[in-house]
Amino acid sequence: MKLSQLIQGHTKFKEERFPKLEKEFGHLVKQGQHPKIMFIGCCDSRVTPDLMLSTKPGDMFILRNVGNFVPPYVYDEELHGNAAAIAYAVAVLKVKHIIVCGHSHCGACESLYKDIPNNESLIHIKTWLSLGLKAKEKTLEENKFTTKEEMYKITEKYSVISQMKNLLTYPDIQKRLKLGAIKIHAWYYEIETGDMSFYDKNDDTFKALNEYII
Ligand SMILES: [Zn+2]
Repeated sequence: MKLSQLIQGHTKFKEERFPKLEKEFGHLVKQGQHPKIMFIGCCDSRVTPDLMLSTKPGDMFILRNVGNFVPPYVYDEELHGNAAAIAYAVAVLKVKHIIVCGHSHCGACESLYKDIPNNESLIHIKTWLSLGLKAKEKTLEENKFTTKEEMYKITEKYSVISQMKNLLTYPDIQKRLKLGAIKIHAWYYEIETGDMSFYDKNDDTFKALNEYII
């Protein structure tokens, strides 16, 4: 897509779609945002939360980063953009659900199997990808794949479970879990089929989203 198409796209939005949503936006401005769901997804351009879940403005508080990773909680004064978004969702917005959503053909998970040089261009990617190493280790340890594609898919799914566990290191999430005020979910989106699945911890497997019992 060219930038000129993006500008045309905005004109189309303003003329055709915005008028239909204007009232809703006005309401969201007056009342403020009160999303009940936080969605943590990958930056990948093929992952489209609002499109694949048919959500509207105000429905989801969305955090996207490389690999849909969740850094474990640390108490310090560094610049934790991801932790800040999670803290805002939990402590201020008081979301009732956090969904960590992985996806097929994730470049971040594939990169876990590549040697990334320690140079000024890639140093932050290399450090960030360390959040996927547990999933890689588990995948290699179990060795349940026959092709590279299978290996990546298993890693992507293990990663989303591992990121979900990292959410449990946040004190506010722990407190709200004890109160039954929040639920944590691990989902997986397949780009090629459009299918979404969820992790069922009772069976330790991913199942079709329409089997989800809330
Ligand atoms: Zn990705």
